[in-house]
Amino acid sequence: MKTYTSTLSVSGTSVICSILGHKFRSTRKITNHFSEYQCRCCGKQMTEDPRGRLISLTPELRDINETLHMIFRRRQIHI
Ligand SMILES: [Zn+2]
Repeated sequence: MKTYTSTLSVSGTSVICSILGHKFRSTRKITNHFSEYQCRCCGKQMTEDPRGRLISLTPELRDINETLHMIFRRRQIHI
């Protein structure tokens, strides 16, 4: 008996998401103005640019967000 595994993923995006759109939920608050989001369907991670638009969360942006998050938390403690 042959078994086939169908991968719904097409270059990181599931077929369902490409048809219906991603269903993003906030996974982490970076600052009061920046958050990280993840699609509940395909797991694609996004973040916000300075204009508030969603952009792909690249390793570089993840590092920037991590730094911003640390600065934001330190400022919160001192306020
Ligand atoms: Zn998706």
